[in-house]
Amino acid sequence: MHCICDIINIFKYFFVCCSFVHIAHAKLMTTYYPLHKLRKIKGLEHVKYVDPYAGSKGNSIRYLSVAPRTNDMKVVGVDNLFCAGEKSGLFVGHTEAICTGTLAGHNAVRLMMGLSLLILPNSIAIGDIISYENEKSETREGRKERYTFAGAGYFKRMQELGLYTMDMKEIKKRISKLNLDGIFDDKLC
Ligand SMILES: Cc1cc2nc3c(=O)[nH]c(=O)nc-3n(C[C@H](O)[C@H](O)[C@H](O)COP(=O)(O)OP(=O)(O)OC[C@H]3O[C@@H](n4cnc5c(N)ncnc54)[C@H](O)[C@@H]3O)c2cc1C
Repeated sequence: MHCICDIINIFKYFFVCCSFVHIAHAKLMTTYYPLHKLRKIKGLEHVKYVDPYAGSKGNSIRYLSVAPRTNDMKVVGVDNLFCAGEKSGLFVGHTEAICTGTLAGHNAVRLMMGLSLLILPNSIAIGDIISYENEKSETREGRKERYTFAGAGYFKRMQELGLYTMDMKEIKKRISKLNLDGIFDDKLC
């Protein structure tokens, strides 16, 4: 019998990124959960771990190319192209993809409308990670790093700069101070 913790752990860590052959593909961070335990769960009797992503060397092949971009997410040298997520820098994570993607989409519409493009200021974490990655990726050392709100060097930087907080009221206050409340809610066209 599996305890509830096992089940929670499986959902937390294992339905993220692995291949469940015969059922579906699911992403998984690492395949350290014992297969014999996993197979005891109803429906997962024939589950397999497969590693199609990077030939057992890692969990993915990515960042083969990153587009040079300005901090408004516009691709350098192309007048009407915006980028986001891992294509826009050495960013890791869904949150990072959502933040950069929202800004890129917003600015694409602004460009189309003839409006000035939005650059988020460094006094908020999203603005800071976007410009910091751009600045760091100019250097060889910086290109060896990855940029994420969830850890690595950037988390430390967020804390040091006082950008990290879980206090929603404080976050709203900071956004208000910059006159950015509901900035993505504004209907532009
Ligand atoms: C194993 C693993 C586990 C992860 N776990 C987490 C986690 O727990 N939490 C977290 O926040 N992040 C996690 N990440 C990171 C996160 O998944 C990525 O950083 C995020 O998905 C990047 O989003 P993206 O939109 O930039 O790229 P992607 O999600 O890779 O999307 C790019 C899309 O473009 C498509 N594409 C590529 N080339 C072309 C083309 N020429 N034409 C058309 N389409 C194309 C691809 O098929 C893909 O669908 C994990 C990553 C991996 C590999």
